This record gives sequence, structure tokens and C-alpha cells, in this order.
Amino acid sequence: MGSKAYERTLLPASVGAKTRSAETEASNIQIAKGIKIIMYEDRTLVCRDCGKEFIFSAGEQEFYAKNDFKNDPVRCPECRKARKNAARGQQPREMFDAVCASCGKPTKVPFQPRNDKPIYCSECFAARRGR
Ligand SMILES: [Zn+2]
Ligand SMILES: [Zn+2]
Repeated sequence: MGSKAYERTLLPASVGAKTRSAETEASNIQIAKGIKIIMYEDRTLVCRDCGKEFIFSAGEQEFYAKNDFKNDPVRCPECRKARKNAARGQQPREMFDAVCASCGKPTKVPFQPRNDKPIYCSECFAARRGR
């Protein structure tokens, strides 16, 4: 359902049939008759981000269908990769200055230090955790 796969009836290849015996051809047709297979074809899609064309390969379409992905990919592989990397890079961890409650060394923590919570430097934190 929702699959845009091309459904085709498998037809026997009639090319070169003349060189074969009529008998062989007939049995080939019998075998081929009624066999329906779903064939995926490489499709060319246009990337939403860069406007470049990219191939949505038959194998990928099969993968999408198997995993019940309803939508075609909208971006080329490069842009998908770029977006993944950007998403990772877009979250710079803000570091706050703090003083270690254990050894008194200045340290940095990835959260706003609160007075009711002791801050430990990474060494002391690891030491405490390891206990
Ligand atoms: Zn692109
Ligand atoms: Zn410390």
C-alpha cells in the first residue's frame, strides 16, 4: 500500500525465440504465465536542499518499502550527510566556570552551577563515581 513500485507481469523473452525449438518456448511461456513480480526501478529525485538530481535506487526503494517508510527521500545523500553533521555541530555545549568542591581547582561544567549542588572537576567527579 502506498508503494510506488512498478508492478509488472513477467513476460517471456521472445527475442531469439526463433533459434529455440517451439517446445522449449512453450514451456518457458508456461512457467512465465501468471508470475507477477514487483520490480523497483531506479528513480531520479531532485534534492530539496541543493536542487541536484540524485538516484533513489531500486535497492533503496525496496528498503523503504520493507521498513514502511511512506515518504521518498527529499535530499541527496550528500545533503543528508551534511545535515547530520550540522545537527551534531549545532549543539555546542555551553560551559560554565565553577570551582571544584573537592579540590578547589577551577573547572568547567556543561550546566549552570547551582549553589545547592557541589561541583566537582572531572578528576574528582570520576574519583567519586568510582567509589
Ligand atoms: Zn543535495
Ligand atoms: Zn577536583
